[in-house]
Amino acid sequence: MSQEELFRAALGLEEPWTVGKVEFSADEQRLDIWLAYGEGAQFACSYGDAVQLQPYDTREHTWRHLNVFQFHNYLHARVPRVQCPEHGVHQVETTWARPGSGFTLLFEALVMLLAKAMPMRGLRPSVFALCSQ
Ligand SMILES: [Zn+2]
Repeated sequence: MSQEELFRAALGLEEPWTVGKVEFSADEQRLDIWLAYGEGAQFACSYGDAVQLQPYDTREHTWRHLNVFQFHNYLHARVPRVQCPEHGVHQVETTWARPGSGFTLLFEALVMLLAKAMPMRGLRPSVFALCSQ
């Protein structure tokens, strides 16, 4: 299993998404993973249509993801927008983040767990430490 296949499985990516590139910097204490898809990939309309659509254009996004050991982890992707005949041009949904969020769903879930388990005074520095850099 290649490094890309390992991260694809660990992230639970679904077709047509795959891991395109992985960069690790011990000096910067971070792991960056670029998500990608192949030529000719099609995406569903975000409004639940059964139609599969070609990308209209793409927008670069970065999401803060859960740490891998002590290393900060970021996901990057050029997320496509599609042009649905019924719903117009809009960004496709991803399985790893809510639209407009700079954090992955798993990162948000961790923050929610911290929020339940910690008093507000302790939560702020913990969340700040997670989100910084
Ligand atoms: Zn549609």
